[in-house]
Amino acid sequence: MDVTILGSGSPIPDPQRAGTGITISIDGELVLLDCGPGTVERMLDADINPKSIESVFFTHHHMDHNASFFHFAIASWTLGRRDLTVYGPTGTTSLVEAMYQVYESDLEYRRSFGRSLDGITDIEIVDVDDEFASRIGNCRISAMQVDHSIETYAYRFDDESTGESVVFSGDTTIVDGFAEFAQGADVLIQDACIGPMLDTPPSNKPVWTKYFSPDQRYLDRLGEVHCTPAECGEIAADADVDTLVLTHLTPYLDPEQMKSNAQQSFDGAVIVAEDGLQLKSPL
Ligand SMILES: [Zn+2]
Ligand SMILES: [Zn+2]
Repeated sequence: MDVTILGSGSPIPDPQRAGTGITISIDGELVLLDCGPGTVERMLDADINPKSIESVFFTHHHMDHNASFFHFAIASWTLGRRDLTVYGPTGTTSLVEAMYQVYESDLEYRRSFGRSLDGITDIEIVDVDDEFASRIGNCRISAMQVDHSIETYAYRFDDESTGESVVFSGDTTIVDGFAEFAQGADVLIQDACIGPMLDTPPSNKPVWTKYFSPDQRYLDRLGEVHCTPAECGEIAADADVDTLVLTHLTPYLDPEQMKSNAQQSFDGAVIVAEDGLQLKSPL
């Protein structure tokens, strides 16, 4: 499996970090996990043709995880994609139906260029719950409900032909049973949204200095529904994973301090995600 972090950011707009979006190649097929703002542009940055993706898995329906879905679905269809299956929790059907409602005449217009509507008006939707189990080729896919502000799932991908495994936590605070779910994974991509903050605003983050600064109420609420890097390290140690990738970064976090906080309890590899980060097989 190859993993590409397309977007490592948060709901706060950040030129250096798109919203959450991750591709994983499994058994020759590329799947997309979440589709936050900027996902399609980051695919092009990573030399990924959007039309090559025929499966999308949503962890949950917060804006920073789905805002580019309409863009992805329509752009990849106009490029020639003719199949799409969308997996996700409550809200997934509403998202797809909203696209049909808003863009019905847009799709008709694009059809007038000679395109078939296959792949856009026949999107297959698969509901995800705690019992979810599926396969793509030799890869087993499972889900676990985690603890966020809305219904949210972590996903696990086990490639039975290579023995490789990748887990993505989605957005979550610490949740019982997650270390078992992620047990022995080669790579754990983990929400680390609550972290040590930089002492001074970074010069390349104008959005923070000009438009936004976090107040204590905001940070307290975030802390109830996300993890700290130190907690991520504890989870990775309990799960005995090889590599921990910290993601979902806000513009004011200190990546160096995040890494060292995670390393206090985890002695495997720790990577603070950046957009475009690639982990190649063998993981
Ligand atoms: Zn969220
Ligand atoms: Zn999020």
